[in-house]
Amino acid sequence: MTKTKELISIVIPCYNEEEVVDICNKAVTDVIDDMTYNFEIIYINDGSTDATLELLEKIHAKDKRVVIINLSRNFGKEAAMTAGIDNAKGDALILLDADLQDPPSLIPDIIKMWKDTGADVVYGQRIERKGETWFKKFTANGFYNIINFIAANVDIPKNTGDFRLMNRRSIDALVQLREKHRFMKGLFAWIGFKQVAFEYNREPRVAGETKWGYWKLWNFAMEGIAGFSTTPLRIASFCGLIISIASFLFGAFIIFKTIFFGIDIEGWASLSVMILFLSGIQLLSIGILGEYIGRIFGEAKKRPLYFIETTYKSDK
Ligand code: UDP
Ligand code: MG
Repeated sequence: MTKTKELISIVIPCYNEEEVVDICNKAVTDVIDDMTYNFEIIYINDGSTDATLELLEKIHAKDKRVVIINLSRNFGKEAAMTAGIDNAKGDALILLDADLQDPPSLIPDIIKMWKDTGADVVYGQRIERKGETWFKKFTANGFYNIINFIAANVDIPKNTGDFRLMNRRSIDALVQLREKHRFMKGLFAWIGFKQVAFEYNREPRVAGETKWGYWKLWNFAMEGIAGFSTTPLRIASFCGLIISIASFLFGAFIIFKTIFFGIDIEGWASLSVMILFLSGIQLLSIGILGEYIGRIFGEAKKRPLYFIETTYKSDK
């Protein structure tokens, strides 16, 4: 088949995915073999402790379109994706999960949409969340509402993950964002350009286990909120202001009451409630401050986002 000149990089981060890498590679190659574009498939081995790397090596030995970037340890999906994006040579790239939750069969439609609309980014938007609990759906929904409400300078589309196509200029823009705290959904939105959505059904994982627990999801939400807005700091000052005004009015009321009705020794319960309430607000505000200071600390160290142990090149 004659190939057009454009090269498309497919970027797939893998962490302990021995159960799915072969299935994933087959699904991807089945689709791209029938297409007229040139492809490279970049697998990032994010410090897997199982046989993922050995399996990827076998795939690489057979298929010269395959690149493996083997990171020196597990850096997390965000860093792994960044390693892939940094090393993508394509005129466009497509980000996929190894577990086939982002169906590779959609690759032709995504590319077609990219060509038809002339957009810089074509991002996947889930219609339905199969195989997820109502609690996860509920919290995810709440999270998008909160973050879009308080993060004024970015508009993060709902039900959107990392599954997307990006053209060269949006890749070049994203590559310049080197912050350590990488809330990718936010970064993808922050770069701007023309972005269009395509709807798809997100499938359940084909095999293996998800690496996301609720604690990680909570941290993820904090990352998004503290990384993209200083509104929580303002809420803390606002609470301080409201409480000060309320206590001033309450003080005035007590003076008034004492002058006209004398002193009585009641109010111990309300006093302790107030002390507890205020200590809570203070600890919360210090915690919020801490979130930002922790981020400053993380960024100030200026460490690289990942280290590559070995690269297995393609013939592209
Ligand atoms: N992943 C990774 N590094 C990590 C965790 C996950 O590269 O530290 C990869 C994983 O191999 C998969 C993708 O990120 O290809 C999504 O992970 P997972 O399916 O566990 O997350 P979920 O789909 O449940 O959000
Ligand atoms: Mg998954």
